[in-house]
Formats: sequence, structure tokens, C-alpha cells
Amino acid sequence: MTMQFIDLAAQQQRIKSKIDHRIQAVLSHGHYIMGPEVAEFEKQLADFCGSSYALGCANGTDALQLALMALDAGPGDAVFCPSFTFASTAEVVPPTGATPVLVDVCEASYNLDPASLLRSIASAREQGLKPTGVIPVDLFGLPADYDAIEQIAADNGMWIISDSAQGFGATYRGRTTGSIGTIATTSFFPAKPLGCYGDGGAIFTADPELRALIESYRVHGKGTHKYDNERIGLNSRLDTLQAAILLEKLAIYADEIEARQRVAARYSAALHNNVITPVVPDDCRSVWAQYTVRVHEGQDRSAIMSHLAAAGVPSVVYYPRPLHQQTAYSKFPTDPEGLAVSEKLAQTVFSLPMHPYLTESDQDIVIAAVQDASGVN
Ligand SMILES: *Cc1c(COP(=O)(O)O)cnc(C)c1O
Repeated sequence: MTMQFIDLAAQQQRIKSKIDHRIQAVLSHGHYIMGPEVAEFEKQLADFCGSSYALGCANGTDALQLALMALDAGPGDAVFCPSFTFASTAEVVPPTGATPVLVDVCEASYNLDPASLLRSIASAREQGLKPTGVIPVDLFGLPADYDAIEQIAADNGMWIISDSAQGFGATYRGRTTGSIGTIATTSFFPAKPLGCYGDGGAIFTADPELRALIESYRVHGKGTHKYDNERIGLNSRLDTLQAAILLEKLAIYADEIEARQRVAARYSAALHNNVITPVVPDDCRSVWAQYTVRVHEGQDRSAIMSHLAAAGVPSVVYYPRPLHQQTAYSKFPTDPEGLAVSEKLAQTVFSLPMHPYLTESDQDIVIAAVQDASGVN
């Protein structure tokens, strides 16, 4: 058996009869769009993270798009995004007419750097843009530095969209991601910590007005009358079948988050002398969407990854190129002092196999391979 980077089959094995039962129930009642499982799942999802409202949608990118539409981002607005992230975070900004401003991240957390955010806000203002909002990302499952970001947002009259596509259910100083930010979003792409069997996403808010706007925007901007569209919207709903599957996955999610802690703790204990292992700040808990390490100065990342592959251990680079160095994003404003950390991380990070069902014997194979490979240059 080859080792999986993320093993979805092991989880399916665990809950297969429950999922089969759920799918059968949907096929029987036939409400494929906005069936009862959607509302049931939304309620449980909101309860899980302590948010007032959760709304399903078609995917994590639409979740961000709908959030920006509800917050009325538009021309002249600067929306600050980390450069070291998946493209979705910034991709949703230009269609609203607003300008994404790419901000650097911290080396230790891989997450948005508040000092870089402050510099970028000042610089955006000098360029005639209005600082309007920030989209921190809970990269690899670790919450962003929300205390600092919330202070900066409050000082500058900005909203926060927490992009928790990778971090739903993580903990930040007593709060759970999903409940943080003016709006929070997540993705149920299969490989995310809470994934479905297709595309799916969700949007969270405590604000009833934003909730009402998002409910309208996700169904073509509907008004109280179905055929009176009050605004230009999207077709972006969570399928009933995906909600049904997610209900069973959410039921074991807390347990899976615990299992992820055990894998990460064993990796970190065994590997901290070989590579730079990830640091989780005090009072925080990651959901470990990825276990991402960095090579030391002088270590050759590609040689290490080749050595791992030869030992049957898959590894992946997330992300090989920060957004500001990608063709479509290179024209947007950035931190005026540059994004040295994002550029360095793109050259030095790699991620190891991580999922809740990774056996100790497979963990040991990964650990031995990294220990062995980290001396290879
Ligand atoms: C996966 C991801 C998204 C988008 O989710 P999709 O469901 O694939 O559209 C957004 N932001 C981040 C950080 C992601 O990792």
C-alpha cells in the first residue's frame, strides 16, 4: 500500500454505512436543492464554532465572493490579503471593482503579518485607495493573529473576512474559527480538514443584516418574491447531498481534530532537530490542514523531497509561488517594503502527509525518512 498524503478512504471506511444511509434519505425525499439537510447542517455548523449564523454555498471561493458582495466592496476600496496563500483569497476581490493589496506574512506562523498590514494600509492611502477590509487566512489550519488584526481593523474602520478554508474549527485564545471576523468563510473541498465529496463552502456571521444579504446573493439576489431579484447575485448553494454527507463528517470532526493533534505532536517531537517544525502560539490550536516544515539555511529542499519520494513518503510544496509573483496578481499593490518572507517561504516550505487516520507506523516511516533525508544535500 502506498502512503497517502491525505487519506480520504480511511475516513469513509469509518462512517460508510451512515453516509450511505444519509444519501439514500436524500434520494428518497428528492429535495436536491436546499433540502432539509442543508438547514440542519447549517445549524450544527454554526453551533460547532459558536457563530450565530452559518450559510452553505457552492464552494469556498464563492463564500469569499458572497462575503465581499454583502460587505459592498467596490471601486476605490483596498482589500488586504496575504500573498502567501491559495489564489482564491485574492481572486475574489477584482470582480467587485476593489483592489487587492498583497501583504507579507510572518515566518513562524505563515500567517498575515500585522506590521506589514500597517505599512500596506498607509501605502494604499497614499495611492488614493480607501482601506476597507482585510482577509486574513488561517493558513494550514492555524488561526491568524486576530487580536492584532482586529485592533488594526478597528483603528482603520475596516471589516474582516476570515478565510478559514483550511482552518475551520481551530482555536484562537478561547474562540473558534468560523466565529471570528465580521464574516468568516470555509471550504468543504474534499482535501480540507472538513471536506465533502465534491465542492461546498460556508459563510458565517453574527450580523443578521449580513446574513440576510448573503441569503439573497447566494440565490441570484432574490427578494421576498422569488421572481423579483433585488440585487445581482450568484447561483451558489450547498447541494443537499453534500450537506447530508457533511452532517456525518461533522459528527466525527472534533474527534478527528484530536487525532490530528497527536500526529502533529509526534512529528514535531521527532523532527524539530532536522527541519524547522511549525510553531503553534500559546492558547491556539491548529486543525493541521497541512503539517508544513521549512528547510534550514544550506539544506536542499528538492533533494530532501526526492529522498522522501524514494522512501515512499509523499510531500508537497504549498505554495511554490506567492501571489505577488504570479502573472495575474503581479500588477496589484503590495507592502511598500516588499514581501521577503512570502518569497522565502515559497523557497523553503514543504508539507508532510497529514490526516487523522495516519497510523503510528506510517508516521514512523515519515519521521525516519525526514531524519534520514535532512542530512542529504
Ligand atoms: C481551498 C481554499 C479556498 C477555496 O476553496 P474552494 O472550495 O476550493 O473554492 C480559499 N482559500 C483558501 C486559503 C483555500 O485553501
